[in-house]
Amino acid sequence: MNNEFIYDIPQSRVIFGAGSLSQLVGEIERLGAKKALILSTPEQVKLAEKISTILGDVSAGIYSKAVMHVPIESAREARAFAKELGADCAIAVGGGSTTGLGKAIALEYDLPILAIPTTYAGSEMTPVYGITENGIKKTGKDPRVLPKTVIYDPELTLTLPLEMSITSGINAIAHAAEGLYAQNGNPIMSILAEEGIRALADGLKKLKTDSQNIDARSLCLYGAWLCGYVLGNVGMAIHHKLCHTLGGSFNLPHAPTHTVILPHSIAYNEKSAPEAMFKIKRALGVTEGTAGQALFELISDLDAPIALSSLGLTSVDLDKATEIALSNPYWNPEPIKKDAIRHLLQNAFNGQKPF
Ligand code: NAD
Repeated sequence: MNNEFIYDIPQSRVIFGAGSLSQLVGEIERLGAKKALILSTPEQVKLAEKISTILGDVSAGIYSKAVMHVPIESAREARAFAKELGADCAIAVGGGSTTGLGKAIALEYDLPILAIPTTYAGSEMTPVYGITENGIKKTGKDPRVLPKTVIYDPELTLTLPLEMSITSGINAIAHAAEGLYAQNGNPIMSILAEEGIRALADGLKKLKTDSQNIDARSLCLYGAWLCGYVLGNVGMAIHHKLCHTLGGSFNLPHAPTHTVILPHSIAYNEKSAPEAMFKIKRALGVTEGTAGQALFELISDLDAPIALSSLGLTSVDLDKATEIALSNPYWNPEPIKKDAIRHLLQNAFNGQKPF
């Protein structure tokens, strides 16, 4: 346990439960909003329309062009639309891409976000925003972008395809796993992280046999909430750095990249963070082997991707990825060494179980 810590956590109001979308009108009233702008991706526009119907006169309009990594052009267009409508609230319904667009608007107009997450990415629990300009994603932290209210309705996740559900869930587990060895960790976050990993690992196994099981969906979304909360409140390390590099510089898909890298990044820190490793294994219900191996087994059993080669990376990219990952120094329990990172990436490329 960290014997010294500061606990100072901004809170969102959380409404959780199957069918909780029915509480939307009351929650919007609570925020005092009269003109809500609804945000979604093109794929989820029907859900945005449903929400607009629920809201009636309080719905000011729908912007359904959210895309991955919040390109500056789409942020500008959505901000201009918000201004034109005189929006006093943004409702982000969808995954991290849609929440990210809401954050880009809130950053400029200081309006409250009500998030309705439909994946397990966890962005709704963080004050972190990212905007991509000229191919480079810049991230920052601002308390104004943390959603004021989050409605977690597991029924809205039933449509998330099984494969995406699994990689999204592992993406969430990655937040908690790194939270367990965060430099600025604290005992409350560690309890939440361990519970988040346990809930997601159990939930994902149940989803694999029945993706329409609402109890399994609830367990996964509950775990995602906890893992997202950890992400929002303690620092991340090598795992998130590597995934940011691979996603940003090689355009690899976000959640599958987290899924492939996680066992290897955790294995990298295995010796330097023994207490975190113990907790990861305990959360996964495993006593044998290492935490990295236990995660690899979980991911393989879920039939999720295990090799970077299967995500479109080529072996010639590995040297460049290593260089980029080393270019900005950051804290990690195990010192960052070039050869070791190159080795990690090679193993992840090959889909080899960490040892
Ligand atoms: P996403 O939001 O890009 O969603 C992927 C696709 O799935 C989209 O087409 C979306 O419409 C669809 N989808 C989402 N929910 C669905 C559902 N229930 N049913 C059917 N389709 C559904 O993916 P994501 O993994 O949630 O988010 C990834 C993005 O979020 C990345 O850009 C990542 O950097 C960002 N992110 C940011 C933070 C943060 O704290 N700022 C945290 C996590 C992720």
